[in-house]
Amino acid sequence: MHEYHSSPAREYKIEVKDRDMNQILVIGSLNMDVVVRMERLPALGETVLGEEYWNNPGGKGANQAYAARLAGGQVAMLGSVGTDKYGVRMLELLEKAGVQVMDIQRDSGQSTGTAFVLTGTDGSNSIVVVPGANSTCSSEYLAENAELFSKAACVLLQLEIPLESVCSAIRQAKTLGKLVILNPAPARQDIPEDLFPLLDVITPNETELSVLTGGPAGTVEEIEQSAKLLLYKGVRNVVVTLGARGSLIVNQNGALLVPARKVSAVDTTGAGDCFNGVLAVALSAGMPLEKAVLRANLAASISVTRRGALTSMPTLEDLESLWQ
Ligand code: ATP
Repeated sequence: MHEYHSSPAREYKIEVKDRDMNQILVIGSLNMDVVVRMERLPALGETVLGEEYWNNPGGKGANQAYAARLAGGQVAMLGSVGTDKYGVRMLELLEKAGVQVMDIQRDSGQSTGTAFVLTGTDGSNSIVVVPGANSTCSSEYLAENAELFSKAACVLLQLEIPLESVCSAIRQAKTLGKLVILNPAPARQDIPEDLFPLLDVITPNETELSVLTGGPAGTVEEIEQSAKLLLYKGVRNVVVTLGARGSLIVNQNGALLVPARKVSAVDTTGAGDCFNGVLAVALSAGMPLEKAVLRANLAASISVTRRGALTSMPTLEDLESLWQ
């Protein structure tokens, strides 16, 4: 096991076929969450008074697209929202940041994806997720947007839209020789075996790695062993995010721990999304994997010092001021 510091002995280069296009296509979820704060959560059948509520824009797809754009990427997104005010607001937020949203599907028959989050002052919570329009982000709709696939250097996906759509998008991207990054979140075990050889990079956190492989993921050595199971399945590079420990790269060159920057974290929501968005920008700009992971770690370390998900994503200036 090696640790990455600043000048690696060898750099593992990922070929990016259409790098001059430099566009990142993010395919995934868009949500507007409703968060209610209360003194204590209601028991079954009970009604309690809430203290206040607010909306949190999110969804892993939207978060990653936003993070990639803020970090300087040229980003287009495919996904699905309702025609309700939440959908309109999500599109406005992304568009204002400069994400190309014109091909995002507006589905009048569905509500925009929402999580209803009840939080007690003691830190307890209860969450109900209504995927809504995210569930109509179909393979057919994605296939209709073939032009965006052609224009992209890199396609970045997660698992908050139907798995069948994720699979067909990955096949479509790989047929065109694109760089494919899958953030396998939320965790699931039923990813078809023939999909793994199509992945250039997979980015599970420890829990997702354990669910994907059935292996342990506690110590760095266990994580390395479990990550190797994904290499055997055909994935080219596994990058496991390890929270405050940083990230572990496992590929044909071996394993490399890229430590996180030491910060005082105030809110880690969206850290994984920040990591993935920035990783996509760095790789599609041709950065070697170790450096790209270092940059994604740096971005995510900034995001955990700020509250919220979208609101915590660093800008290119934030990144450059700390990048050596
Ligand atoms: P989340 O679900 O909260 O968005 P995740 O579980 O998908 O996150 P993590 O592994 O917790 O992902 O974090 C992603 C990356 O964020 C880490 O690889 C690391 O670079 C950075 N990070 C997370 N927590 C910290 C921390 N406390 N200090 C520094 N960096 C951190």
